[in-house]
Amino acid sequence: MAKIFCIANQKGGVGKTTTAVNLSAGLAQVGQRVLLVDLDPQGNATMGSGVDKRTLPTSVYDVLIEAATVAEARARSELGGYDVLGANRELAGAEVELVDQERRERRLKQALAAADADYDFVLIDCPPSLSMLTLNGLVSAHGVIVPMQCEYFALEGLSDLVNTIKQVHANLNPDLKIIGLLRVMFDPRITLQSQVSEQLKQHFGDKVFNTVIPRNVRLAEAPSYGQPGVVFDPSARGAQAYVEFAREMVARIATM
Ligand code: ADP
Ligand code: MG
Repeated sequence: MAKIFCIANQKGGVGKTTTAVNLSAGLAQVGQRVLLVDLDPQGNATMGSGVDKRTLPTSVYDVLIEAATVAEARARSELGGYDVLGANRELAGAEVELVDQERRERRLKQALAAADADYDFVLIDCPPSLSMLTLNGLVSAHGVIVPMQCEYFALEGLSDLVNTIKQVHANLNPDLKIIGLLRVMFDPRITLQSQVSEQLKQHFGDKVFNTVIPRNVRLAEAPSYGQPGVVFDPSARGAQAYVEFAREMVARIATM
């Protein structure tokens, strides 16, 4: 059975897409069968996987409106070694089109159920909002991975997401829980970041992943080459950290 995880944080620019793409590629490198679902109309996870969003014949949009199955709509990231259910601008319309449809928040969950046997991991890259798209992701998932920067307001920013997860857990998806907080873009030379990192561990205990993703320019450069950072420069510290995180996730699901 595939384990399904949302990469979510209602803030933009916190490393959700970088985490979704590089965790997918890292998991593929350690032998896992992976589907990456891009739920952001910006399509950055799609492009960053080397799949051109502008020429996608079918995408996650077609799946949400029930015009295609996952098996029909998925593409392949040849470099990354995983499948991609891509997204582009068309997806922005799904929100409006689904508004008066029945079971609108369960569309993705139902579609993924049909592809369950094909994967060990399904990772869902969520947009930076708590929209119908994100809701579809949260309803589908066994858990949420929250990438965050160790900044002063980091904890405060989490409360909206935590409340949303509680509501979805209570009303729509009793499986849902926070799997863990992932410290990203970490720079140990910045005292404040080390302090916030310690606070996170005090507040959230083992909900904080052991792996820390450093700030690393190679990770930021990779998308412009249409490659996951893990593939673009495997020797880079950021790439190695994401492969280590993939191993941590494989160990984590063994206990779920
Ligand atoms: P989100 O999906 O949450 O909006 P992104 O993954 O797109 O965030 O990251 C925002 C920006 O930060 C991008 O330009 C990305 O390349 C850069 N970035 C993400 N993680 C790292 C990192 N570990 N080191 C350096 N730059 C990073
Ligand atoms: Mg993103």
